[in-house]
Amino acid sequence: MTTAVLQVQNLCKSFGGVHAVRDLSFRVEPGEILGLIGPNGSGKSTTVNALAGVYPVTSGEILLAGGHIQTLPEYERVSMGLARTFQTASIFPEFTVREQIRLGCNVTLHSHPLSSVFGIGRHPGEDEAVTQRIEDILELTGLNDVADNRVATITAAEQRFLMIATALAAQPKVILLDEPAAGLVSHERQALSSLIRSIRDTGVSVLVIEHHMALIMEVCDRIVVLNFGSKIAEGTPEEIRNNQAVIDAYLGE
Ligand code: ADP
Ligand code: MG
Repeated sequence: MTTAVLQVQNLCKSFGGVHAVRDLSFRVEPGEILGLIGPNGSGKSTTVNALAGVYPVTSGEILLAGGHIQTLPEYERVSMGLARTFQTASIFPEFTVREQIRLGCNVTLHSHPLSSVFGIGRHPGEDEAVTQRIEDILELTGLNDVADNRVATITAAEQRFLMIATALAAQPKVILLDEPAAGLVSHERQALSSLIRSIRDTGVSVLVIEHHMALIMEVCDRIVVLNFGSKIAEGTPEEIRNNQAVIDAYLGE
């Protein structure tokens, strides 16, 4: 078996007496788009937060490219290649789109978080590579046209794409997307589907949580289904669509 980009083994997370995630195991393979679905309160966000290091796990293991990360702080997981989309958005509404993406690059530069914006502690040769990386990400995410606009003035959909762009700036091995389609209209969801595939095509694996079933079924290679914190099914979109336990718990809603 090849080494998974992300491997979750027997993950448990409790909040007091609430078992939000119970004995959850799954793998995200290189070049794979894995969907994580389930009813409200089934433990999807808790899983993402545990993977990202927002809070400690109750028990279980998390491996990134074969190495244990479950005890590492959030920022170290990011610099090792696990990115998620919440970190940024319009934290700096006065920044331009390009400047905002530049902030995301800094986690891999081992320098002051604001160095590229304020010019503190730069290393020679770094600038050119970072500038190229930003251009590539602007191209990939389709944000070229608004690259010099202020974050506060772009549309909500563009801000959503900017969050993804900023996460990509950290050069992740895997990116976690928690409900990226929320609030998007049909043509924006289409653009999101293409973006998720394009991200995968650049060699970054994707773990996506989403309520929009059409998007999940269209974009995912495999899907893991949670119910009351436990995995009730895992398989291809076709297998999941026809799984009776999934229909009963979720799709039949
Ligand atoms: P989902 O994202 O699938 O809707 P969550 O992971 O947000 O589900 O929640 C799973 C369960 O854990 C729910 O019962 C929720 O109330 C509980 N929960 C989530 N976060 C916390 C928290 N920080 N403190 C206490 N309970 C929580
Ligand atoms: Mg959630």
